[in-house]
Amino acid sequence: MSITLDQVTKQYQGNPVVNDVSLAVAEGEFFVLLGPSGSGKSTLLRAIAGLTAADHGRITLFGRDVTQVSAREREVGFVFQNYALFRHMTVGENIEFALRVRRVKPAERARRRKELLDLIGLPGMDDRLPTQLSGGQQQRVAVARALAHKPKVLLLDEPFGALDAKIREELRRTIRSVQRELGITTILVTHDQEEAFALGDRLGVMNLGRLLETGRPTELYTRPATRFVATFLGAANLLLRREARSGSDLAPARAEGETDGPLQDRRDQEVVAMLRPEEAELAPDRDALLTAFLGYGHVEELQFTGALERLRIRMGTEGAARSGDSETSAMPPVWIDVSRTQPEQRAFPLASGQRVAVGTRRIHVLPTPLSSFTVCAESRDSAARLMENPWLVDLTIRMQTRLSAQVEPLVADAGASPVVAPAGVAVVTAGPDCPARVRRLLARGVTPVLCLPEDAAPPSRVIVHFAGQVARRSTLAVTASLLRHVPAEAVFLGILPGDSSERTRTAGLRQLLDVRSEAQAGHGLDVRTELRLGERIEELLRELEAQPGQMLILGLPEPGSLPDSFEALLTQSPGWPVLLA
Ligand code: ADP
Ligand code: MG
Repeated sequence: MSITLDQVTKQYQGNPVVNDVSLAVAEGEFFVLLGPSGSGKSTLLRAIAGLTAADHGRITLFGRDVTQVSAREREVGFVFQNYALFRHMTVGENIEFALRVRRVKPAERARRRKELLDLIGLPGMDDRLPTQLSGGQQQRVAVARALAHKPKVLLLDEPFGALDAKIREELRRTIRSVQRELGITTILVTHDQEEAFALGDRLGVMNLGRLLETGRPTELYTRPATRFVATFLGAANLLLRREARSGSDLAPARAEGETDGPLQDRRDQEVVAMLRPEEAELAPDRDALLTAFLGYGHVEELQFTGALERLRIRMGTEGAARSGDSETSAMPPVWIDVSRTQPEQRAFPLASGQRVAVGTRRIHVLPTPLSSFTVCAESRDSAARLMENPWLVDLTIRMQTRLSAQVEPLVADAGASPVVAPAGVAVVTAGPDCPARVRRLLARGVTPVLCLPEDAAPPSRVIVHFAGQVARRSTLAVTASLLRHVPAEAVFLGILPGDSSERTRTAGLRQLLDVRSEAQAGHGLDVRTELRLGERIEELLRELEAQPGQMLILGLPEPGSLPDSFEALLTQSPGWPVLLA
C-alpha cells in the first residue's frame, strides 16, 4: 500500500472534523475523495500532506510512518484548492521552485522543467507570467509544480476550482493522463460527483468527517450501503419497504441477519430500498408495465433536459403495491423521481397531470437496520413531546426517513394486543417506566429500541458495548448505521471482570481487535476500542456519568429480553439516549 490511514482524527474546537478515518490506497491508484462542502476532505488531505497535524491516528506513506514527519520530508506533491501560482514568478520559476528549495543544480532544474512542461502540454511557455495564462493553463502549471520534486504521492484539492465546464474537462484529461503516465499514487478531492466518476479508479465518500464508503464508482452507484452515498452519488428515491422475515423477492446482502434467536414469529422487517430514477418504468396502466408494479401516481413535474426527460411523480394511495408478502411504500413526501430516455419518451409521451403506473426495474436494498423511527407512547401528549426532540428530528432529516408515532398502552398491559408492531426503530421515553416499555416491545420482537430522554441533546460521544456474542453482529450493524449520521466520536468498550487473569485480559484485547476488523470489513466503519476492568453496569454508568452529551449503544445478552441489572442504564435522570440492539 502506498498510503495508509489508520484512525486519523482531527478536531477543531472539540468537534471531530475528521473522525477516525482509515483507508488504504494502492500504489499507482487514482483515489477520489468525494463529499459535500465542510465534510472534512481538505482537512484530511492536509493531514496526509503534513500541513495539519492529526490529533489521533497514524499515516503511513510507502510503509514509512510519517505521522510525525514534516511536510517537506513526506515526498508529497500538493495542488491546493483555488491555489494561485506565485504571481511575480514566471511559469518556469514556479515549476522550479520546489527544486530550488531543495538545492537542486540549475542544469537538472532546467531539464526537469522542460520535461514537466511537455508532460502538461505547455512546451515553451517557460517565460510567461501566470497572468498571461488562462485559468486552466495556470492549474496545469500548478500540477507541474507539485510534481517537480518527484513526489511519491500527488494530492489535489479541488484543482478545477472555478474553471468553466469545457476547461475543466480538458484539465481533467490532462491530470488523468499525467497520472497514468507517471503511475503516481493520487488522491483528488472534489465535491463534484461527475468529476469523481470520470477520474477515480476508486472513490471514498465523506460526510460529517467520516469516510462512509469506498469502492469502484459503479459499485458505489449501484450498490451503496448508506442513504447518504445513495443520494449523493446521483439522484435516488428512497423507499421504505416491509418484508416478511422469511425471505422475499428482494434479498440482496443485508448486514443484519434474518434471525437473532428464538423469536420465530418476529414481525415483518422494514427495509430501506433505493430506486434510481432511470430504473423506474412508466406505463399507462399496471398491466402495461414490464416490471414490478410500485403504484399509481400523477405527473407533477416534467422537465426536458436534452438527452433525458426528468419527471416527478406524486404517488397516490390507490392500489398500493402488494406483491406476495412484500409491500412497498414511498416515504413522505410521496414523490418518485423518474428519468426517461428519448426512446422511452417517444413510446409513451406524457403531459403534466397525467396518471401513470410506476414500475421498478431494479431496486437495491440498503443494509441499514435503522429504517425509520416510530415513537411509541401511552398518550398523544408524550408522543408529541418525544417527536419534538430536536436530536430525533434532526436525525430523521439526516437519514431522510420517516418519523411517526404509535399511541398504545405500553406500561400497563391492557391485555389488548396491538394490531401492528411499530416499524423500524421504536422510540420510547427514558425514565422510570422505560424498562417496562422496553420489555413490552422486545417481547413483540421489536428491535432496535431507542430510549430517549425528552430533553436529550445531540451526543458528542457514543459508547458502544455488547453484553455477549449474540448481539455482536446486530450491535455492529446498528452502530455503523447510526454513526454515519451522527457527528460524534465513538468508542467500543470491552468490559472484563475486575479479577480477570492476565490471559483473560489478553484474550479480551484480541477480541476487541476482532470487533474492529469486523466493523471495518462488514461495515466500512472504523471504531476505537477500549478495555475496562470491573462490573459491567457499574463501568458503563461510570463512563456515561463522566461527562454530559454521551449516548450508549447496547447489545443485549439475549434477544427479546432486558435483564433487571440493565434497568439502571435506562432510568437515570437526567439520562442519556440508549439504543438497544
Ligand atoms: P471540505 O474540504 O470537505 O469542504 P474542510 O476540511 O475544509 O471541509 O472543513 C471541515 C470542517 O472543519 C468545516 O466545518 C470547517 O469549518 C472546519 N475547519 C477547517 N479548518 C479549520 C480550522 N483551521 N479551524 C477551525 N475549523 C476548521
Ligand atoms: Mg475543501
